[in-house]
Amino acid sequence: MNHLQDDVKEFRHHLARWVDERLIPQAEHLDENSEFSFELFRELAGLGYFGVMYPEASGGTGMPFPYTCFTILCEELARGSMGFAAAVCMQGSTATHTIHEWGNDTLRENYFMPAMRGEKIGAFAITEPNAGSDAGSLKTRAVKVDGGYVINGSKIFTSNGTVADFITVVATTDPSKGSKGLELFIVDTKTDGFSIGRKLDKFSVRCSDTAELAFNDVFVPDAHCMGDGTGGGFLKAYKSLTIDRIFTAALALGNARAAYDAALRYAGERSQFGKPIGKFQAVQFKLVDMLAQLEQARLYTYHASALADSGAPITSEAALAKIIAGDGCNEVCQKALSIFGGYGLMNEYPVQRFLRDSYFPMVGGGTSDIMRMIVARQIGL
Ligand SMILES: Cc1cc2nc3c(=O)[nH]c(=O)nc-3n(C[C@H](O)[C@H](O)[C@H](O)COP(=O)(O)OP(=O)(O)OC[C@H]3O[C@@H](n4cnc5c(N)ncnc54)[C@H](O)[C@@H]3O)c2cc1C
Repeated sequence: MNHLQDDVKEFRHHLARWVDERLIPQAEHLDENSEFSFELFRELAGLGYFGVMYPEASGGTGMPFPYTCFTILCEELARGSMGFAAAVCMQGSTATHTIHEWGNDTLRENYFMPAMRGEKIGAFAITEPNAGSDAGSLKTRAVKVDGGYVINGSKIFTSNGTVADFITVVATTDPSKGSKGLELFIVDTKTDGFSIGRKLDKFSVRCSDTAELAFNDVFVPDAHCMGDGTGGGFLKAYKSLTIDRIFTAALALGNARAAYDAALRYAGERSQFGKPIGKFQAVQFKLVDMLAQLEQARLYTYHASALADSGAPITSEAALAKIIAGDGCNEVCQKALSIFGGYGLMNEYPVQRFLRDSYFPMVGGGTSDIMRMIVARQIGL
């Protein structure tokens, strides 16, 4: 056990160095330009980080405690840039998890393996303009034809959407069955009829690409349907999205750490009334409250990922982790900004980016209130 824990420590250590040396120096530029960094994305793939969650036998890195290691990956990357971390999280988790769990050999060879090597970029599309929290009411339709399915519809808020080579698309094969009529399909973005509606401009996680997508008579072969066409896709999507909530909590945690570290440093550097502002009790209490929220988020997020590694059910824990870390991170970032006074509002200080980015974990993968609804059901309400 101990040598396995040493491996995990070593993993964090190497990753943290990469974040300090490669990601942090580019984070402001990427945010300012809403730029998806192909360079850093491929570099990280070359270091083997995309396969952290998967066993070696299926093309992954074969890490001990894979969910904990992926949680570390998300936390450390988000400490540098939550936008970049969100793009990596999509690649190494939701977009590839579906193929790993339910894809056939063709999908594994043509999409999963190239994604692990960083040669292909993946995305996951369930949300539609009129189906967000109520994802089961989505309208994108897949109609069975000879040799495959024809997909028509649209998706919105798809992360990695304009840069993706393949997308796991959730569509209905039988609208009369509601969420029980859904299936998962892999759509190759080179297929005729697929188009990018537009790249969405946003104030949060700006360097994570977000798109609106259109499907106009898009033919996908039978081999690209990750089911038998009779429904069952909702539960599969739900399984991938549940584990992903722990990683979204980790994104929040990493971002909150960056905000706390910056505020603590600033409290020692900035002087008013003849002494560093960190000597004023009001500022001290704010920093201690931030630390308390951070520790709470850290402990619960890693509790949830350890449970996932043990194979225990995580429905409640993943949702709670996202509430604790997501909402907590936003509060930590608000306090950090206030410690910077007027400078907090200036773009030259990254604390405004930390606050802007902190809104993403409270929405992506389901809003905080939807997480509360999930937990309420789990406790029998
Ligand atoms: C940056 C970003 C990236 C994203 N990436 C992806 C992606 O890669 N793939 C993807 O498929 N989706 C993605 N999403 C979509 C995201 O999952 C949805 O935005 C989220 O699930 C909420 O859906 P909505 O925006 O339609 O809000 P709505 O569902 O319209 O919710 C609006 C408000 O109503 C509340 N609400 C809704 N229903 C209830 C209820 N029953 N009880 C109480 N309150 C309720 C919500 O909590 C929220 O406050 C992304 C979103 C963002 C912002």
